Amino acid sequence: MEQKTIENITVSVRIRPLNPRELASGGEKIWENSGSAVIKDKTGVRSFIYDQVYTETTDTQEIFINQGVEVIEKCMSGYNGCIFCYGQTGSGKTHTMHGVRKTNPGVVPLSIDYIFNTVQQSSNKEFLIRCSYIEIYNESINDLLNQSLLNLQIAEDKRNGIKIIGVTEEVCTSSAQVNSLLAIGEKHKNIASTNFNQRSSRSHSIFRVIVESKNTFGCTEVAVATLNLIDLAGSESANVHGPTANSARSKEMKCINRSLLTLGTVIMRLSDKKNNAPIPYRDSKLTRLLQPALEGNSKVSIICNISPCNDAFDETLSTLKFAQRAKKIKQVIVKNDTNDSKTLIIKYEKEISELQGRLREMEE
Ligand code: ADP
Ligand code: MG
Repeated sequence: MEQKTIENITVSVRIRPLNPRELASGGEKIWENSGSAVIKDKTGVRSFIYDQVYTETTDTQEIFINQGVEVIEKCMSGYNGCIFCYGQTGSGKTHTMHGVRKTNPGVVPLSIDYIFNTVQQSSNKEFLIRCSYIEIYNESINDLLNQSLLNLQIAEDKRNGIKIIGVTEEVCTSSAQVNSLLAIGEKHKNIASTNFNQRSSRSHSIFRVIVESKNTFGCTEVAVATLNLIDLAGSESANVHGPTANSARSKEMKCINRSLLTLGTVIMRLSDKKNNAPIPYRDSKLTRLLQPALEGNSKVSIICNISPCNDAFDETLSTLKFAQRAKKIKQVIVKNDTNDSKTLIIKYEKEISELQGRLREMEE
């Protein structure tokens, strides 16, 4: 029996504290929450409603519990998931997604801990977890786990969706192992860049976890779910609709970050069902990779990061409008069951039973 649910994309907003630069230049806090789901500017002229608005006193753990856990739990039972942060450079995307491991972990390490806790506590299910870590920089997909793999290509496979050809996928059995992969990825990001800040604000990084799961007893079906955890480039590269856009600037930015610009268009088209214009997933690497998620079959949680400061007003407004459009998108989420013998769980089970057979022969 096919298991389907129809849901909206979950959209939350996180307001960060004023930063030292904003404080030093006399910046004023002009955005604040009004109740748990509304954000208003101080004049009260503009107000927006989301699933949740988080203020500067909220920590990432709380955001993860409200915006992340449901996505991860769905993945553990076979539904695709996607969590990403959207906002201008310096608004807190990396702080939210990655954070600081020991003192203030972000959504990625918290998700990983949650996944392996679930694996450990589960007595009636077997799991196999694979991870990959890539960046998209100037429309090139680079493997962050193997720095010699640059400009990887995408292939579409009718059965298994969109794949990155040749990307490193590590089978992981513990949080510690995944954290060391993350550390390798971070090191490669640093090595690859001459100007780390500039590059990190213009590249997208995607930590991808593939969760194969199977009931221990009876059932032979394996559920395969993909979880995409994405730290996006700064959205100021994509403000074609913002008040600051002019054609020269948007042309320049289009070259710099086609992916983010296309993401904006894809979200706009998906949110406007009356407009039958085609959805340009194929126009960029990011949207091509996210096509299965954005098209519908994925539980999606978007965290929009903003500065509360008056001098970021235009960028913040543009982020809030992006968030509003995303909120309208409906997803039809389907469990991905398969009997495909290519799933690693099945492959490993076969290998184990062959080895057991050989062992028995040797003992006889
Ligand atoms: P982005 O990835 O959006 O460019 P960062 O996450 O790197 O921005 O954040 C910029 C700076 O602001 C970092 O020093 C980060 O630690 C700090 N910061 C961001 N959000 C918060 C927050 N909610 N609380 C405290 N510091 C934050
Ligand atoms: Mg960042």
